[in-house]
Amino acid sequence: MSTIAENIAKVGVRIREAAQASQRDCGSIGLLAVSKTKPAAAIRQAFNAGTANFGENYLQEALDKQVELHDLPLTWHFIGPIQSNKTKPIAEHFSWVHSVDRLKIAERLSAQRPAHLPPLNICLQVNVSGEASKSGCSPDELSALAHAVTQLPHLHLRGLMTIPEPTDDPAEQRAAFARLRELQQGLNLGLDTLSMGMSHDLEAAIGEGATWVRVGTALFGARDYSTP
Ligand SMILES: *Cc1c(COP(=O)(O)O)cnc(C)c1O
Repeated sequence: MSTIAENIAKVGVRIREAAQASQRDCGSIGLLAVSKTKPAAAIRQAFNAGTANFGENYLQEALDKQVELHDLPLTWHFIGPIQSNKTKPIAEHFSWVHSVDRLKIAERLSAQRPAHLPPLNICLQVNVSGEASKSGCSPDELSALAHAVTQLPHLHLRGLMTIPEPTDDPAEQRAAFARLRELQQGLNLGLDTLSMGMSHDLEAAIGEGATWVRVGTALFGARDYSTP
């Protein structure tokens, strides 16, 4: 078994145990393997170990890997910050976008989604920790943004996404994820997706209703950002 396959098995156990602890069906929790900075070969190994959903943050890197892996039936999720001049290839080459935080980006993604593809699945990124530096709309802006996005013809608004301020305190982790769940319930739009929880806090996120956990480090190891 490759290290990646072993890691996928370990993360699978964590997901199942967390689901059990909150009496949830683990079938309702998807593993989104975050493969940014990792080579196509690592994605291929993860696919061979049973994972088909991959999350990428950097557009050009993602497009290069998609070409290399075109023989595999993978589902690609864009999870990084979006510049408005990059929306077209995102609309063309991904099935999901988790990081929409303003209407202008949503409008461009809808207008640029090719007609022959199903609507692009969208999560709105919300800043639940209130740090100035992080991306995501504020909870105050969410309702207007969400209602506007439901009107866009080539998008399918699925739910909310957050990246809370990192903390090792499980109670603080859960409080941030509970906030996202409550915001989603408050919208009353019948949304079915909560994209929350990463390598270090997926248990807390599952306890508060995560339907996608976005896991990088625990599957692929630490990322190296130094240029070769
Ligand atoms: C990098 C990244 C992840 C994965 O984080 P890990 O701590 O490596 O599991 C999840 N979500 C987003 C948006 C990311 O950018």
